[in-house]
Amino acid sequence: MRSSCASERIYKWTLPAFEGELPDGRRYNACPTAGVCVDLCYARAGHFRHGTVLAAHQRNLQYVLDDLPGWEAQMTEELQHRRYRAPEGGTVHVRVHDAGDYLSLPYLKAWLRIFRSAPHVTFYSYTKQVALLEKWARPDQPANFHFRFSYGGTQDGLIDPARHPHADVFPNEESLQAAGYTSQTPSDLQAVYGPNTLGLAANNIPHLKKRQGKETFRALQEAADADKPVRRHGRGPAPRLPQAD
Ligand code: SF4
Repeated sequence: MRSSCASERIYKWTLPAFEGELPDGRRYNACPTAGVCVDLCYARAGHFRHGTVLAAHQRNLQYVLDDLPGWEAQMTEELQHRRYRAPEGGTVHVRVHDAGDYLSLPYLKAWLRIFRSAPHVTFYSYTKQVALLEKWARPDQPANFHFRFSYGGTQDGLIDPARHPHADVFPNEESLQAAGYTSQTPSDLQAVYGPNTLGLAANNIPHLKKRQGKETFRALQEAADADKPVRRHGRGPAPRLPQAD
């Protein structure tokens, strides 16, 4: 894992976004419940697509797919290193997945064991695997694991916005505040400590901002689920229909 933010000591573990092909020719889908987010995904643009970055994320995935017990053992051991121990009263944070998701039950179960093995660390995730997490993580949720459902996936309909911590992607800061959401911009740790209603302003990637227009991921997914056209404010292709699992 690498630290992405020295001041907040957030470490990250990530997989490649959505579909692709490993160097050995195997096809994968690391985001099985991705929906409209696929066409608006920051992790499928920019530096994430650069050769070395994508290759590193694909190596992570390959390790998980080929040797899940070995990967779990190594992760468990790594988290005992003193860099994951904060001074008295503090905690180190690990964000599980900048891109990718809990792609299978065995993988989720491995993480749940890892979380329990490292109570000195606080883990968090944004996830679109609503049914999987509700069934397998919620009933006996490790105290040091926080997850937040993110809109734009094929299981959005299972999210209860009044009850579930969730995140939606808005076109900008003004629109998320107008909707009564709290911005994630000051700190990604709002995913852990923020209110149920967390808003992310769209990344400043011009072609993706244009494609998103003035809609939120939640609204775009609702429109896709209803198979109806959504009012477009920008040019570019309409969001695709949700992917089949
Ligand atoms: S689930 Fe996340 S990483 Fe995967 S395609 Fe959607 S936005 Fe990208």
